[in-house]
Amino acid sequence: MLLEIAPVKIHDETRQGESFAPAEGYVNEFARKFYIESYGCAMNFADSEVVASILQGEGFGATRNVEEADLILVNTCSIREKAEQTVRKRLTEFRSLKRKNPSMLVGVLGCMAERLKSKFIEEEKLVDLVVGPDAYRSLPALITEADTGQKGVNVLLSRDETYSDIAPVRLNSNGVTAFVSIMRGCNNMCSFCVVPFTRGRERSRDAHSIIEECKTLFDQGYREVTLLGQNVDSYHWTSNVTDAKPVTFAMLLEQVAQLSPLLRIRFSTSHPKDITDEVLFTIAKYENICNYIHLPVQSGSTRMLQMMNRTYTREWYIAKVNRIREIIPGCGLSTDMITGFCTETEEDHQDTLSLMEYCEYDLAYMYFYSERPGTLAARRYEDDVPEDVKKRRLQEVVNLHRIHSLKSMQKEVGKIAKVLIEGDSKKSDQHWAGRSDNNKVVVFPKTNNGLDKGSYADVIIESCTAGTLIGKLIN
Ligand code: SAM
Ligand code: SF4
Repeated sequence: MLLEIAPVKIHDETRQGESFAPAEGYVNEFARKFYIESYGCAMNFADSEVVASILQGEGFGATRNVEEADLILVNTCSIREKAEQTVRKRLTEFRSLKRKNPSMLVGVLGCMAERLKSKFIEEEKLVDLVVGPDAYRSLPALITEADTGQKGVNVLLSRDETYSDIAPVRLNSNGVTAFVSIMRGCNNMCSFCVVPFTRGRERSRDAHSIIEECKTLFDQGYREVTLLGQNVDSYHWTSNVTDAKPVTFAMLLEQVAQLSPLLRIRFSTSHPKDITDEVLFTIAKYENICNYIHLPVQSGSTRMLQMMNRTYTREWYIAKVNRIREIIPGCGLSTDMITGFCTETEEDHQDTLSLMEYCEYDLAYMYFYSERPGTLAARRYEDDVPEDVKKRRLQEVVNLHRIHSLKSMQKEVGKIAKVLIEGDSKKSDQHWAGRSDNNKVVVFPKTNNGLDKGSYADVIIESCTAGTLIGKLIN
């Protein structure tokens, strides 16, 4: 399946609630069937692939038909109140299924499970299992318990779990691009964010297992990996071997890049305070590391950034953007933005708009502030910007970004893009669709020249819409 980039995203809705879709020709030979639906960030989607692997080892085969499932799992997100409401609503839809099939189990995984713990079972009577992000290895035991009518809860967070030895079962895969988780948790404590509480302390995964997973993917025909972490720049792993030197993110990037020039590498998310020149020079050095950085700023006002505990100023952020553009000319840049954070004034909001004018982001994920229980902001500050003001400011941010993203598409017209083909275009099986190095969706007519999914093609861009570059193949 190809996920085309929408020109503007207030929130990346394209994958929310996506269910497991077994690959074509998949024969489910397992005694019991599970159905899994995922919400939230890419980390959650990657986690669902680990869960699928653990369940397969226990005799559960995947189904995309919820009606025939013996086990329904919902991998949840807590980042905003709306994300939690969506999951609650979805759970009510499973009630009638459970009535028809009382032995069917319903499990809640991920951040909402971690945040609400056993309260979930009190509030949502139909839920049998509540399992936090670090406790997926205990799923088989919890299922056995739940089969006997007991409710199964494990929300223990870990300091060292990285699931490094578990080979994820690729869900909804196009066979070309895959996520590879390189670390878990977050130590940053941004005041608005629930992630440090739901995903625990930051820990980096064994570098050898990451390289091995990328190599296996390449051998299986995959041509792009996205290395995932809440803050990839603080990746830091040291082997137990005597005198071993720590592996940094720049070193890891380099090692993955050296697997094959045909393997493209993307990564997310970078933190402005941590991204180093070393990482930028590594990106510049390897053609197969994509020239694209997701560098969330959250606000353009230094006062807001301080209250958000982001630990950088507007000026620091601008200096980082300048450095990126100096070392990697033409590098794609995207961001996350929050409007209406506690005490935000019109002046702070104008600072956000002017920062956007400066950066001209190619892509932005934009949200209005949603207070999350237990976070530093919820404890320290009043959520005092009225909702209509938050939303009006968000709309202004979205409107401005729309101008910038269209401009960024138009700049590509007349240029040649190296496209990794991900599959048929959504609109026509007579066209290929893929992405350019700087993460733009490119569509072009198929010709009889042996190209297939996973091939690279040089495409001259002839026109564009707000979300897609349209071109034709050049020899
Ligand atoms: N680790 C990444 C970072 O530092 O940018 C992203 C983590 S979070 C899963 C993704 C985005 O959700 C954040 O960058 C932020 O813009 C948004 N977000 C987090 N908490 C929020 C809240 N309470 N209200 C609105 N948006 C929020
Ligand atoms: Fe949340 Fe900040 Fe960590 Fe990102 S860096 S996950 S926004 S605490």
